[in-house]
Amino acid sequence: MTAIGIEAIQAKGWWATHRWLLLRRLSQLSVMALFMAGPWLGLWLVKGNLNHSRTLDVLPMTDPLVLIQSLAAGHAVERNALLGLAVVLLFYLIIGGRAYCSWVCPVNVVTDAAAWLRRRIGIRGSAHISRSARYWILGMTLALAAITGSIAWEMINPVSMLHRGLIFGMGAGWMVILAVLLFDLFVMSRGWCGHLCPVGACFSLIGRWSLLRVSAERRDSCNNCMDCFAVCPEPQVLRSPLKGAAKGAGPVVMSPNCTNCGRCIDICSKDVFTLSSRFNNPVSMAGVSATAPK
Ligand code: SF4
Ligand code: SF4
Repeated sequence: MTAIGIEAIQAKGWWATHRWLLLRRLSQLSVMALFMAGPWLGLWLVKGNLNHSRTLDVLPMTDPLVLIQSLAAGHAVERNALLGLAVVLLFYLIIGGRAYCSWVCPVNVVTDAAAWLRRRIGIRGSAHISRSARYWILGMTLALAAITGSIAWEMINPVSMLHRGLIFGMGAGWMVILAVLLFDLFVMSRGWCGHLCPVGACFSLIGRWSLLRVSAERRDSCNNCMDCFAVCPEPQVLRSPLKGAAKGAGPVVMSPNCTNCGRCIDICSKDVFTLSSRFNNPVSMAGVSATAPK
């Protein structure tokens, strides 16, 4: 068995094997730089934070989970916040709900680092928590807001803590981020983002209807190296599109948990994956003929 990514590097070169990863890091860095430019340099292209922001004093953006927590807490929600929610919903309905996770969220850098370290060190064991736990935690954040009358989750939300901390100083927030790193590294593979984070869960719900999708369009060329499963932060989403042709499954990754990170596109030496749309998902004819009534 060759090391993960070696086949792709030999077939396509280093750049083509890391293109999406590098673009994502550039996107995450650029988002952070835009938020930091105001407080640090007095260049207020974007005001606010990931919870609510205004770009160029015109374009509002509101985090959906923060807004529904505010509603659950009984707070009056301003028109601008609702407008910001509409902008965010529209944006992620096009590019994929969890694109937020892989292209914007700063915690993703930490959890990707933990996953990379796990692979390098060769840690195999992992605790088991259902992937649906994140939806229960999402419900609990809303219940907490309703009980306390405040958006209490935001006090300990690693996403908000890291984002605010990078701009204004981390303080004890490093402890929370370190805990996420150590949890993913030693306790549970892809534990935080793949099983627990309610922000990711909220964007998964939005992603249920999103347009832009990864597709295993050339799955006939798959050589079963399994590198895509090894690097995918939500490997369960690949099973049906890549291996389900015999059961009539189309090649598009329809699971809302796919983060549109593009790592499967990067890592595949056979160029099986590409970016496509949810509507370009032909049902496998092999599956149709196998299951058609006689
Ligand atoms: S699951 Fe949560 S912490 Fe992970 S990348 Fe998504 S929003 Fe960020
Ligand atoms: S299926 Fe591909 S794009 Fe989706 S999360 Fe996995 S590696 Fe990323």
